[in-house]
Amino acid sequence: MKRLVDKLRERHELDSEEYRSLLIMHDPQDIEYLFGQAREVSQRHFGRSIYLRGLIELSNVCRNNCLYCGIRRGNCHVSRYNLNREQVMACCEQGYDIGFRTFVIQGGEWGEERSPWIADLIREIKSRWPDCAITLSLGEHPRETYALWRDAGADRYLLRHETHNQRLYGLLHPREMTSAHRLQCLDWLMELGYQVGTGIMVGAPFQTIGSIVEDVEYLVRFKPHMIGMGPFIPQHDTPLGRFPAGSVELTQRLYAILRLALPQALIPSTTAMASLAPDGRLRGILAGANVVMPNLSPTDTRKMYALYDNKASLGAESAKGVHLLADELATIGYHIDWSRGDSPQKKE
Ligand code: SAH
Repeated sequence: MKRLVDKLRERHELDSEEYRSLLIMHDPQDIEYLFGQAREVSQRHFGRSIYLRGLIELSNVCRNNCLYCGIRRGNCHVSRYNLNREQVMACCEQGYDIGFRTFVIQGGEWGEERSPWIADLIREIKSRWPDCAITLSLGEHPRETYALWRDAGADRYLLRHETHNQRLYGLLHPREMTSAHRLQCLDWLMELGYQVGTGIMVGAPFQTIGSIVEDVEYLVRFKPHMIGMGPFIPQHDTPLGRFPAGSVELTQRLYAILRLALPQALIPSTTAMASLAPDGRLRGILAGANVVMPNLSPTDTRKMYALYDNKASLGAESAKGVHLLADELATIGYHIDWSRGDSPQKKE
């Protein structure tokens, strides 16, 4: 197994059987070797520095009905909110004062009629804080909308492909959503010059090791600048609310495998990791992740952005608790890097 880890580190690619072996191996020493190698590669490129992104949850209004997601259109137990321009600017201001230089604007998917409003918002943030990066995570849109937002000043876009396996995609999403369209969106975003992030939920219902291998192969081919992966966590009012949560350890393995395959990728240790285990965030970093995304949303709307049950949004997960995060990182010898943290990967 160690030989396979070394091979992945050297060649940045394995065949599907080899990926499978790394995903199912159970000798704790082999697993620790994988994590250790990923950590070393991460430290070679980024040192023991962790980039921060301030997450602003713009709205829980969504036109989609993804079967796993707590803010799906069909969930009538959610009270819906939209942040207005002033609220978003207040979040950015607070974040900027704490030291954040990237704002991630995430939310449910809106209709195209509201895309110009987003463009105005991007322009306003950029004119007030030109030294900050803006990352959007607002779902699937026509190429023209992505172009509009890019022209307005957006730098990065997060759109997880969720799963590359069409059959599994169909089991997790309503009929009108397709994996082909999501992948098309990712290609457009790349073409438009965004730094692009994609990824999966680990341990989603019906997911298999085989489908995860397909995801790894897709990620290695697509070479995103950022890779967003977190364990699936059930939300009790969704159709998949009775399925068990995914595993922190398998997610760590995927961070490590992707770190070795794409050494320069920006890999957040996600909120879902912190939500499932008290030490989840640190375990992600110890497996090669190098980004954390604390929550900058107004405190009163945070609980309404409930993608899954018991989602962490306080303490070290909160922008205001960033000193707690710094203390936590110090226990494993890491520290915060307050820079914008752009992708070191060259754009083609
Ligand atoms: N509307 C945007 C943002 C979605 S929320 C979009 O479509 O991209 C961001 C991510 O949260 C999703 O891509 C999904 O992978 C994750 N997510 C949603 N529900 C989840 C759940 N129950 N458990 C874990 N992650 C979940």
